[in-house]
Amino acid sequence: MAKKQFKAESKRLLELMINSIYTHKEIFLREIISNASDAIDKLAYIALTDDKVGLNHSDFKITVVPNEEERTLTVSDNGIGMTKEELENNLGTIAQSGSFQFKKDMSTEEKKESDTDIIGQFGVGFYSAFMVSDKITVISKAYGSDTAYKWESEGADGYTVTECEKDSVGTDVIMHIKPDTDEEDYCEYLEEYGLERLIKKYSDYIRYPIRMEVTKSRQKEKPADAPEDYKPEWEDYKEWETVNSMVPVWQKGKNEVTEEEYNDFYKQKFMDYEDPLCSISINAEGLVSYKALLFIPAKAPYDYYTRDYEKGLQLYSSGVLIMDKCSDLLPEHFRFVKGVVDTPDVSLNISREMLQHDHQLKTIAANIEKKIKARLVKMQKDEPEKYEQFWNSFGRQIKYGAAADYGMHKDQLLDLIMFASSKEGKLTTFEEYKSRMPEDQEYIYYAAGENSANLAKLPQTERILDKGYEIFWCTDDVDEFVMQFVAEYDGKKIKSVNDDDALPETDEEKEASEKKAADNKDVLDFVKETLGDKIKEARISKILKSHACCLTADGGISIEMEKYMRKQGGELADFHTEHVLELNADSSAFAAMRNAMESDRETAAKYAKLLYAQALLIAGLPLEDPSEYSDLVCSLMK
Ligand code: ADP
Repeated sequence: MAKKQFKAESKRLLELMINSIYTHKEIFLREIISNASDAIDKLAYIALTDDKVGLNHSDFKITVVPNEEERTLTVSDNGIGMTKEELENNLGTIAQSGSFQFKKDMSTEEKKESDTDIIGQFGVGFYSAFMVSDKITVISKAYGSDTAYKWESEGADGYTVTECEKDSVGTDVIMHIKPDTDEEDYCEYLEEYGLERLIKKYSDYIRYPIRMEVTKSRQKEKPADAPEDYKPEWEDYKEWETVNSMVPVWQKGKNEVTEEEYNDFYKQKFMDYEDPLCSISINAEGLVSYKALLFIPAKAPYDYYTRDYEKGLQLYSSGVLIMDKCSDLLPEHFRFVKGVVDTPDVSLNISREMLQHDHQLKTIAANIEKKIKARLVKMQKDEPEKYEQFWNSFGRQIKYGAAADYGMHKDQLLDLIMFASSKEGKLTTFEEYKSRMPEDQEYIYYAAGENSANLAKLPQTERILDKGYEIFWCTDDVDEFVMQFVAEYDGKKIKSVNDDDALPETDEEKEASEKKAADNKDVLDFVKETLGDKIKEARISKILKSHACCLTADGGISIEMEKYMRKQGGELADFHTEHVLELNADSSAFAAMRNAMESDRETAAKYAKLLYAQALLIAGLPLEDPSEYSDLVCSLMK
C-alpha cells in the first residue's frame, strides 16, 4: 500500500524527533498521556448530556501496558477517539500550537538550540514518541462511528491508514520502542518501575486514573502440612493499580487540606527536610484563572546566594507539568518562593519564547507577587517571631531587591524591610520608626558600619542620639545602598549621620559655623598641605560633638560603600572615595595642633597625621603604613 506523505512542516519536526539527541526523551510519555486525557475530557463532556456514551465518569481511564518481548509500550484511553479523517489530519500534520511557526525567523544556530528547548520544556505532542520509537501504531475508534482505523508510521517517509477491528470507542497508541544503543537504554520505557516513575513525575495530576499492572509481593499461604520450622515463602503477583494521585493538593479547597498535608507536600516536592514557614494558596478566577500553591521556605537553601540557585515556580497546564522552573512567574526579589501554578489558560505546547511574552502569564505573575507581599505583611503584623525568622533567611534578598535596578521595586518592598535601631532592641520597620519620631525631627537617620555596638559609639552618631532621635543601624553590606535608593519614606528624607546637614541648622548656627571655619582656615590649610593627596580637604566638622575627628566621604559614595566595593576584590580592590577629614574645632586635640603650629610646625604636622590615622581607624579603614603610625605615636610620647 502506498504511503501517504507528511506535510512539509510535520516532516521536519518528525526528523527532528527521530534524530533527537535530547537527553530527556522521557517526556514523550507525558505527551501521549495528556493527549489521552484530553480525548477523555471531550467524551466525558459529551457524556454529561448524552446517555448514548454509556460511560460513567468513574469508567474513564488511561492504561499503560509495557510488553518486553514485543518491545512495545501501549497507552490506551476510552476517550473520544479519531475518525479516519482525524487520524490523517491530526497525526499527519503538526498541530497549530505555534511552537514551530514561531521559529521561522530564526537563524539555523538559534533553531538548533530552541529545538532542544522546545522538546524539553513543552514536548511537541504526539511526535515526541518518535524520540523513543521506531514505529508507532495508533488504533482508534471515534465516538459515533462503527469502524475503527489503524494509523501506522515508521517515521519521516510517511504513514498508512487502514480499517481494522476495535471493540470500544477510544484510542490505543502502540509504540515500538527503539533498540538500546551504547548511549541510550530505551528499554527503561518497557520496565514497570521506570514507567511508574515517569507517570508520577510528569502525569501525577492527570485527573483520570492511569492504570498499570504492577508486580507485588505477598506471603504464600502456609501449607496445612507445614513443618514446625516452616519459613514463610513469598511470591510475586500482578495487580492493576492507579499510579497517579489524580487530584493535586492545590486543586483542593483550603479547608480540605490540613497544614500537615501542605507541609508534607512541600517537603516531598521541593526536597526540603524542614517545614516551610508558611504556605499561600490561591484560587483565582476572572480574566485568567489559575490555582497556585506557594511556600516560603524556613531557611535559604545552601546554594541560595550563588549562581547555581534557579528561581521559578512549577507550571502546570490543567494538571500536566509543562515547566519545572518557570522563572517568569516570580520577581527577582521573591526568588526564594517555591510552589506550583496550574492554569488551563496556558497551552501545553506553547514555546518558551512565546511563554515569555504571554499575557496571561504576566497577569498571573503580577497577581502572585501581590499575594506573596500581602502574606509577608500579614506575617510581620501577626506573627513577628516568624517574620524575624523569615527576615534572617531572606531579608538580604528583600534588601537587594529594594536596591536593585536603581530602586525600581522599592515601593513594593519598603514595608517589608527592617533594620536594627538605636531605640529598639529588635528589628524595626520604617513605619514603626516614623511613628516614634519626635515632632521636631526632620529626617530619618541611619549609620552604616560593622555592628551596632560600634555604630553607637561612632563620633558622628553622638549628636543625633543626644537630640533623642532614633538611628537605624545598617550593618549589612547592602544596607546603605538600600537607604540611598529608598531616599525617602512617607515624606521624610533619609539621611546618613555622616551628612554635613544631617541636623538642620538655624541661621545663627549657620553663621557661627561659617565663622568658625573662617577663623580656622590657616589650620585647615596646614592640615591639607601636610596630608596632601590622602584627603580631599580638611573641614571644621558640623557633625562631631565630643570627639576630635572623623572621616567622611564627599559625593554619593560613602566610606561604608567604599569598604563594600573593596571587599568585592578584582578591579574594585583599590576603590577610593574622596576622604574628608572632619575636625572638631572645640576639641583639645585641635587646640594642641593650633598651638604647635605657632611654636613647632614639625610636631604640628605629626598631630595632623595622627588625627588622620585616628579617623581612618574609627571608620574601619586600614592604615596605609601601620609601623609608620606606631613610630609616630612613640615619637610623640617622648
Ligand atoms: P496537540 O495535543 O498539541 O494538539 P498532538 O500532536 O499531541 O498535538 O496531537 C494532535 C491531535 O491529535 C490532538 O489535538 C488530537 O486532536 C489528536 N489526538 C492525539 N492523541 C489522541 C488520542 N489519544 N485520542 C484522540 N485524539 C488524539
